[in-house]
Amino acid sequence: MSRVRTRFAPSPTGFIHLGNIRSALYPWAFARSQQGDFILRIEDTDQERSTQAAVDVILEGMEWLGLSHDEGPFYQMQRMERYKQVLAEMQAQGLVYPCYMSVQELDALRERQMANKEKPRYDGTWRPEPGKVLPAVPEGVQPVLRFKNPQGGSVVWDDKVKGRVEFSNDELDDLVIARPDGTPTYNFCVVVDDIDMDITHVIRGDDHVNNTPRQINIFRALGKEPPVYAHLPTVLNELGEKMSKRHGAKPVTWYRDAGFLPDAMVNYLARLGWSHGDDEIFSRAQFLEWFDLDHLGRSAAQFDEAKLRWVNAQHLKALAGEVLAQKVTPYLQQRGLQLDDRLSALCDLLKDRCETLVALADWLERFYGDVPASEAEWQQHITPAIAPAVQALAEKFQAIEWNKAAIAAALKEVLAAHQLKMPQLAMPVRVLVYGIAQTPSVDAMLELSDRKKVLDKLAKV
Ligand code: GLU
Repeated sequence: MSRVRTRFAPSPTGFIHLGNIRSALYPWAFARSQQGDFILRIEDTDQERSTQAAVDVILEGMEWLGLSHDEGPFYQMQRMERYKQVLAEMQAQGLVYPCYMSVQELDALRERQMANKEKPRYDGTWRPEPGKVLPAVPEGVQPVLRFKNPQGGSVVWDDKVKGRVEFSNDELDDLVIARPDGTPTYNFCVVVDDIDMDITHVIRGDDHVNNTPRQINIFRALGKEPPVYAHLPTVLNELGEKMSKRHGAKPVTWYRDAGFLPDAMVNYLARLGWSHGDDEIFSRAQFLEWFDLDHLGRSAAQFDEAKLRWVNAQHLKALAGEVLAQKVTPYLQQRGLQLDDRLSALCDLLKDRCETLVALADWLERFYGDVPASEAEWQQHITPAIAPAVQALAEKFQAIEWNKAAIAAALKEVLAAHQLKMPQLAMPVRVLVYGIAQTPSVDAMLELSDRKKVLDKLAKV
């Protein structure tokens, strides 16, 4: 069997979202799992709608997610000469023909067909046939080039997701493959690229299913066997609409900025259309070991942010403190916080309560920065009645060794002396020091805090 070669071929006409990037994840995973190659191709021929900013989101998003490519990025706009060369060859072989039908004539044809309840299609007026007399070539009209689609019979392929798919050739009219100015059209460029790039497996969204029979016919006309196809069902948003920028889908890079972990994203997106038994949480390595095209789902998958957050939380808490420290550092630096060597231990202490790196950074800011309590929490916990106990605690804190056991002992002594229960003292201490009443155990928190800062905060009672 030949070496597996897959590709991701996004059009940079909008910011790539999670639904799009899943169409990168699967071909990437398939190439990796088969020791093959993964190729990135930017389909930028729609010059009006393509933007560099959209290309940047593709490149940044893929890099962030670790979907590395082996070849490319290739830009279709830079391959125009090659397409024109293939067009010329096809013309020389009689595989395409010029069509001079004007837009008005095409419109009129379509209206007639619709009125007759027929499917609108080009009627082959300019298709040369043995013995057929073509209309006179109109003057001053630049023709389009149409592909001579086979007549009769059907196009069949064994889709890795949809199973056997069949289109009758009579449903496919002769596709325009070059515009009057000679520029090639979409379906044609895709085939030339897939041939030149030796693509063995095309894994893409099922919005392309109707293009596939046309592309297969062009492959065969060029003397090539088409690749294996897998058409992935749509990703729906939380409202059940097709995920799209128009429906408010966020760019992939938004999830990076919101503190999601690449491995968790890969895990979540992997499950959005593929399964390995009931496994929900898995590593990237595990995914690559398991991934195959035989377990792709057939029905549309629905994005669920709460589930994504849960998956992220599972990955986050499985990471060692020092790894998390490294990952959360950029988010803390963005906030201008000065960090120190307590960071790893703090990450270990706090990670169980965080769904994202941003949430972890929010917690850490309570240590490295200054996050005031809400008015309501302050009112509730910082009462005149508690002040003497807090002051007594602060006094003890000045003298002890600054470790968890000594802090716990000091707390106990003050509780006994003031006849209080732990929460009655711990809550005000938390509100004073960290600006929040609910935290992990207060002695563990305090141990990792700067004593001077703690004393300054307790003095505010
Ligand atoms: N450029 C197409 C898109 O973004 C994908 C084409 C393909 O995968 O064949 O939808």
